[in-house]
Amino acid sequence: MRRVYLDYNATTPLHPKLKNEIEPFFDYLFGNPSSTHWAGRLAKEKIEEARLNVAKLINAKPDEIIFTGSGTESSNIAIKGIAFGFRKKGNHIISTTVEHPCVLNTLKYLESKGFEVTYLPVDSIGQIDPEEVKRAIKKETILITVMYANNETGTVLPVKEIGKIAREYEVIFHSDMVQALGKLKIDIEELNVDLASFSGHKAYAPKGIGFLYVREGISGMEPLTHGGHQEKGLRPGTENTLGIVTMGICAASLMEEIDRDIERMENMRKRLLEGITKCVDGITLNGDQERRLPNTINLSFDGIEGPNLLSVLDSLGIAISSGAACTSGKSSLSHVLLAMGLPEEKIRSAVRISLGKFTEEKDIDYAISVIPSAVKRLRER
Ligand code: PLP
Repeated sequence: MRRVYLDYNATTPLHPKLKNEIEPFFDYLFGNPSSTHWAGRLAKEKIEEARLNVAKLINAKPDEIIFTGSGTESSNIAIKGIAFGFRKKGNHIISTTVEHPCVLNTLKYLESKGFEVTYLPVDSIGQIDPEEVKRAIKKETILITVMYANNETGTVLPVKEIGKIAREYEVIFHSDMVQALGKLKIDIEELNVDLASFSGHKAYAPKGIGFLYVREGISGMEPLTHGGHQEKGLRPGTENTLGIVTMGICAASLMEEIDRDIERMENMRKRLLEGITKCVDGITLNGDQERRLPNTINLSFDGIEGPNLLSVLDSLGIAISSGAACTSGKSSLSHVLLAMGLPEEKIRSAVRISLGKFTEEKDIDYAISVIPSAVKRLRER
């Protein structure tokens, strides 16, 4: 059966460059990076090389990169770290209703510990008004956390503008940038953020590696885990050297490939969308169609259930998603589309198609030849 993977927002295939990088870990890269002998030094050097590449990719300083285990962990370290570290200053946090569960559930936990959270609403295309952020700030506000790009719709939120407001009011600003890595050019300096979360497996590195940007000068964060000195004490424990090294290689590759990747994804996304909409009526495009990721399409097809389309396409070899990967399999409605005010039938009929570095024109041809007829068949049932 032909296999076409169009679910890059859930996870990405590994970068082929990584294949050759694993062997040295069997030969000589096995050392504990904290050891001072040759084996430790070799591992440590490789980690610092990776840190430099990751920093370069987002225009940060190497010292500002903390390696973690995932995007989820990065956001937990950032949000709880600031909340507990700055508790004496205030207990108020500002966020949005469309964040990933790793942020929303962290905030829910903090609410149970006495913090107050303002969840800013989004409009019908999933956007927030930076002025709303300004209005929500009060003297107890210690943190603003707003994602850069939404995983379900691809809407890109006005992080730079919010960052400017956060600076003006001297409130620490964190952004979940997991979905932006590898899909947008990120200049962390320009975006006015203090902390930003990233995940390796959304950008061609393996699962189990992520990183957190912590702007120089941000101090007083309470660590979640207590142990050794690694990663400035914010993520103690012997480093995932293999994960970190592969993350560094992906970062170096992305620096060379991102312009081409963005252009290819954008062109293929447009062609796929045109191909589907030309043949099928009763379609709603969800999310902001201008400020958006180049790779993501979120569509509602009148009269069908998203999970049914997903399983028909799966039987034809096409992998897509109905809503976020983390909630797929559950019958709950997408909290993102709900927050955008979509009617229930549009939410039930929504699917997400997300392209990436290894998507080819022939994959798009196949998807265009299969999706419209699958929708028609489901509507006739
Ligand atoms: N944030 C966003 C926007 C995501 O899409 C995801 C994963 O789907 C995460 C965070 C969690 O990242 P990880 O799977 O590395 O924990």
